[in-house]
Amino acid sequence: MRYALIFIIIISLNACSSTNQAEKNLMLENEKVTDFALVIHGGAGTILKENMTPELEKQYHAKLREALLAGYNVLQSGGSSVDAVEAAIIPMEDSPLFNAGKGAVFTNEERNELDASFMDGATQNAGAIGGVRRVKNPIKAARAVLEKSKHVMLTGAGADAFAREQGIELVDTSYFYTERRWEALQNVKAKEGETFILSEDDDYKYGTVGAAALDKNGNLAAGTSTGGMTNKRYGRIGDSPIIGAGTYANNATCAVSSTGHGEYFMRYMVAYDISARMEYAGATLEEAAGTVINEKLVEKGGSGGVIAVDKYGNVAMPFNTAGMYRGYVKADGEVKTFLYK
Ligand code: ASP
Repeated sequence: MRYALIFIIIISLNACSSTNQAEKNLMLENEKVTDFALVIHGGAGTILKENMTPELEKQYHAKLREALLAGYNVLQSGGSSVDAVEAAIIPMEDSPLFNAGKGAVFTNEERNELDASFMDGATQNAGAIGGVRRVKNPIKAARAVLEKSKHVMLTGAGADAFAREQGIELVDTSYFYTERRWEALQNVKAKEGETFILSEDDDYKYGTVGAAALDKNGNLAAGTSTGGMTNKRYGRIGDSPIIGAGTYANNATCAVSSTGHGEYFMRYMVAYDISARMEYAGATLEEAAGTVINEKLVEKGGSGGVIAVDKYGNVAMPFNTAGMYRGYVKADGEVKTFLYK
């Protein structure tokens, strides 16, 4: 009898301490971990060390670092998450390394058509542009839609015209040409034969760029910019300019930017799904983003990844492809960049 009593006491003490631990974990996850944070991606895909040269690796790390530092400087000096997201995306759009701005992939009609979106988590205002052909930095046009128009999404020639009215730099369409992307299109077309392929077998697959930031005032923002997918056709627009799929931000939960096979990200509302799991099911950022990318999308056959930051400054960067160009920086200023799993 006495032993039984001791046994029961030990069991209940154990139960108590594990409850306390669970509560402690929850508390830790729900505390601010940094004053501000920025996380970026330069696309997910078949990014394998064996396909990379040391020189190219260095270039990717350097460009990701440059983008992170541009955003960090904004956040460090008290700037907004919206300014930080734009500052981080511009150097990646200007670099031919990524499928956004200069270096965008080609459509089946052998043109470059760019998509981008922006969301402000404080106001939940959003702006997006789809299929633009002349805007040098599509992320600037998406931001202008967010801040200066009554609409959320503008497409095609109208979006180019809006950008011009807003004083945003337009370039000749030849600006976007890069040999690497041109060859990727020719390779896909050569393989295509009778059946149309939306290229998934380009070595670097998706090269969309995106950023998500938390600023010192606790405001979240996210933005995404892309050339879409090689060989896209009929004015195809992907997930990148779709609010809730490619981009989402809500001060109550998190800010997210996606990269991957857009058709899946649109059907499963990836960015919003992550936020909704946090809002309604009490998931942590890590749990929500991990489940959506590594369970739900994998089951459905959708490849890609996201970068995200929550209102406490936790970052998550899950992807279900071989690699994803990515990195983050928090208030301590330590810049981390990664390419592979
Ligand atoms: N998600 C983009 C699209 O489908 C592609 C990418 O992420 O690179 O247009």
